[in-house]
Amino acid sequence: MDQPDRRTILTTGALALAGAAATTQTQAQAGPKSIFPVAATTIPIVGETDVFAVRRIYCIGRNYAAHAREMGSDPTREPPFFFQKPTDAIQNVAIGAVADHPYPSLTKNYHYEVELVAALKSGGSNIAVEQALDHVYGYAVGLDMTRRDLQRAMGDEKKPWEIGKSFDRSAVLGPIHPAAKTGHFAKGAISLAVNGNVKQNSNLTNMIWSVAEQISKLSEAFELKAGDIIYSGTPENVGPVVKGDVLLCKIEGLPDMSIKIT
Ligand code: MN
Repeated sequence: MDQPDRRTILTTGALALAGAAATTQTQAQAGPKSIFPVAATTIPIVGETDVFAVRRIYCIGRNYAAHAREMGSDPTREPPFFFQKPTDAIQNVAIGAVADHPYPSLTKNYHYEVELVAALKSGGSNIAVEQALDHVYGYAVGLDMTRRDLQRAMGDEKKPWEIGKSFDRSAVLGPIHPAAKTGHFAKGAISLAVNGNVKQNSNLTNMIWSVAEQISKLSEAFELKAGDIIYSGTPENVGPVVKGDVLLCKIEGLPDMSIKIT
């Protein structure tokens, strides 16, 4: 019987090894199979068919001096503080839509907070302010919806805020605009109207901590990664909504975002 020559042995050996490596890689990627499916949270991107996969939602508190004062604190003495919402708290709102937003359970004082949202394409720890914006993929208009009565009650009792801030659909969001197209947002009008009456009306220049500073500060406490989004705080004149109210949110340079409380 003819023996395979050396060249044939080497070739088939290499192919076998390549095949084994490919199989191992596929198994490593798949891992053990989940016993049930869990939906991924994604955000549409304007002008793209691909979507933005969400890893974490960070929010900054009291980042406009006048809002900090209306919440009863002194903005000149406070470093930024952060809280999180669960990833699946996002309610995506399409451009031009007036999305139904159900009034949540348990609260009798449900508040709007219009905010600029920054979406990260990369991250790290201890990010310098000067490099921070390099990690931003894009921006969106957001609403940090809040059960104010429950947030305050928990705060008064020195208990966690989750029930007031981190409930289903509490993170309302328009689509993401790539910063490559819009540039970064250090200034520009930000406003919110209820049934046509302007309630919040400020400018991004009034933020105490800029988006770059927020990223830098956050990265001291948490390792930031691609897919993280940051709600950058709301201006003054937050207030309650009731069923039937239509909220219209505007940030200069981004399309309007609107919901109806149902
Ligand atoms: Mn907020």
